[in-house]
Amino acid sequence: MSLHMHEYDEQLTSLVFDHLRNRLRRNPVELDCPAPGENVASQLEGILCPGGNDPEYVLKLYNRELMRTVVSADSPRYLSFIPCAPTKAAQLGEMLVSADSLQGIFWMEAAGAIVAENQVLRLIADQAKLPETAGGCFVTGGSAANLSALVVARDTARRRLGLPVSARFRVAVSEETHSSVTNSLNIICAEKLVVPTDDHRLTGEALRAALEADNDPAPVIAVVGTAGTTNAGLIDDLSGIARVAKANDMWFHVDGAYGGAGLFAPTVRQRFAGIECVDSFVVDPHKWLFAPFDCAALIYRNPQLAKSVHTQAGPYLDLVQAAENSPEWNPPDYAYHLTRSACGLPLWFSLAVHGIDAYREAIESGIALAKAAADLIRDEYKYLEVIREPELSCLIYRRPGWTATEYRRWSRRLLADQVGFVVPTSWEGEVVTRLAFLHPGTTLEMIREILDSMREAPA
Ligand SMILES: *Cc1c(COP(=O)(O)O)cnc(C)c1O
Repeated sequence: MSLHMHEYDEQLTSLVFDHLRNRLRRNPVELDCPAPGENVASQLEGILCPGGNDPEYVLKLYNRELMRTVVSADSPRYLSFIPCAPTKAAQLGEMLVSADSLQGIFWMEAAGAIVAENQVLRLIADQAKLPETAGGCFVTGGSAANLSALVVARDTARRRLGLPVSARFRVAVSEETHSSVTNSLNIICAEKLVVPTDDHRLTGEALRAALEADNDPAPVIAVVGTAGTTNAGLIDDLSGIARVAKANDMWFHVDGAYGGAGLFAPTVRQRFAGIECVDSFVVDPHKWLFAPFDCAALIYRNPQLAKSVHTQAGPYLDLVQAAENSPEWNPPDYAYHLTRSACGLPLWFSLAVHGIDAYREAIESGIALAKAAADLIRDEYKYLEVIREPELSCLIYRRPGWTATEYRRWSRRLLADQVGFVVPTSWEGEVVTRLAFLHPGTTLEMIREILDSMREAPA
């Protein structure tokens, strides 16, 4: 009876493929005006019913009710948070993964997908100048990657120091460290040693001073550096931190979820000096490497340590354990997950199609845009102030005199007018705003429209 669900359906397929083709054709992708989400639930009521619905009706409902509330993260006018600007090839690559039912779990059933994913991890490791033995896996996001790496840091230290499970231990971070790291530390029962930063950048000097001034007996087993803070795009003093970490036998983790892609950009590569010393490193291709959600790269200097922590055992798993000294690679050995899609494959497909140089150029264009926008504000917009010179592709700036209410109203108006999706943020306690440039299709003209709209306080 239910077999029809697994049979090819020409009508359903054409409906969806036509929709996909139209979506992929949109150029440029507009922001779309988000309708309030409050009414969606009542519109969808009853759709999950015993007998199912006509696919045309379901797709209509999807377009009319669901999509209407969604801001397009791949619009060149989406400049909030960290946008997602997948290449068309990467989006299509994801459809391949789906249609081919590609999984990326065990070597014995997915070796080709895993080899291709590992090629991309190797490419990223090469940008960071990590040794040939480095490796890891793709996970769903920076949060999952940070957690998986910090578990390895913890268990490696426990083993080395002979710490009982009940022993207190700490991880050094800065005030700028991403919230997902705080979350991870809570999960693994680590306490934080918050190192005060000079000018929002964690430095080796500050870390050394904090360790020297510290008299808590709980060992500081790791330090998290950030390569591209989410708010202002600042890169910590990675080489300084690396030296102090090494001298104190600490695990050195770098969170480059957003900014790590900057490794591909020759104009800023020097700022990442010290990245070659990491024990673990995270970069989110679903941020600045133009992959669709969900895709984060997690790389360890010594993947064997991760394997000794994350490998799962079970009667149904005995068969798949990778043999010693074989090229077999099971991605679940390197993070806390088991079942996973080959989520690195869309990026592999796009990289293979377009080549690495196109990626370098696209990343450089975000960096150039942030610089150009800062110059534009200084030269032509006397009613605005740049707060920090951009180091990567984020520009943080203020409209002196505006309160939180004015920023909020302006932000809503900007989206309603389809000029830009830009939200307020805070800097040293003050409400300000920022632009995150990822999409190479963002133009200076679009930026001007946004800056022009800040002349008068919104009514
Ligand atoms: C976005 C971000 C994260 C979290 O990554 P997700 O992919 O959203 O889970 C962690 N760290 C930094 C620096 C980020 O920018």
